[in-house]
Amino acid sequence: MMKGIHIGHDSKEVINLKNKVIRVTAADNSIRGFFADTTAMVERAMALHEASPVAIAALGRTLTAVSMMGFMLKGEDQQITVKINGGGPLGTIMVVGNEKGNVKGYVANPRVESTNIRPGKLDVGAAVGSKGELTVIKDLGMKEPYAGTYPLTSGEIGEDFAAYFMHSEQQPSAVALGVLVDVDYHIKAAGGFIIQVLPDIDEEVLRELEARLNQLEPITTLIERGMTETDIANHVLGKMDVKIVEAYDEVDFYCDCHEERLERALISIGKEELKSIIEEDGGAEMVCHFCNKKYYFDKERLTALLKETTR
Ligand SMILES: [Zn+2]
Repeated sequence: MMKGIHIGHDSKEVINLKNKVIRVTAADNSIRGFFADTTAMVERAMALHEASPVAIAALGRTLTAVSMMGFMLKGEDQQITVKINGGGPLGTIMVVGNEKGNVKGYVANPRVESTNIRPGKLDVGAAVGSKGELTVIKDLGMKEPYAGTYPLTSGEIGEDFAAYFMHSEQQPSAVALGVLVDVDYHIKAAGGFIIQVLPDIDEEVLRELEARLNQLEPITTLIERGMTETDIANHVLGKMDVKIVEAYDEVDFYCDCHEERLERALISIGKEELKSIIEEDGGAEMVCHFCNKKYYFDKERLTALLKETTR
């Protein structure tokens, strides 16, 4: 066990934890929004990565955003990858999601010690860093994937996604993301929203929305109050005739790694390297970055793989 990090995640029953994303429209379809409760998803990520509070806050915010962004994809078997590297101690944050809102992700250094801005408020921006970029890659099943990159604003993640949407996709958006870590190192609550306005929005409605967002409490405050994703949607957009279009209960942290994928990774290191692993180590253990699942390849398997590469 790492010093100062509690990893006994199975001691507490995981009840009352849920994942849910709702898609809403408001003001005659001139506003669209996604509101999410990702508590269970983030709890699972924290356990898999044995992440410190500040690491899971950064990763959890990104997982939450990507889960919602998955529902902006238009077709089946489409994939979205978000990479954030702000030069801070956490290193790269990588999250991959699909059109069903399922996500997987990791942070390069999940044990980074947490610092607070003030008691109870984790300094996510300092841990992520703000000297870097947020990159979004969308694999839409075409020849070339779509890729957009925008410099980080603060490393607080929510603001960085808002800047990315505005400048890289020319889509004005309000993004709020929050993860609350309990004193016992469990996730108390996690969630967020992405609100986007369409070009035909009435100017008065836009002013009203901006005023509403300007005086909005931090998302973690709303979550801490016990507000659900629907409560928050009504709280933010309630006066604008908000309609829930769809609700997705099946979103989760989901890793699709399998042996063949890691086999291919082994093959890709090259013949000579593979040969020396067989001779010197007699076997290889490969770990999936996304879920930490271990795969073991014994001498026999590696020799067979080597034969395949030399054929
Ligand atoms: Zn995996």
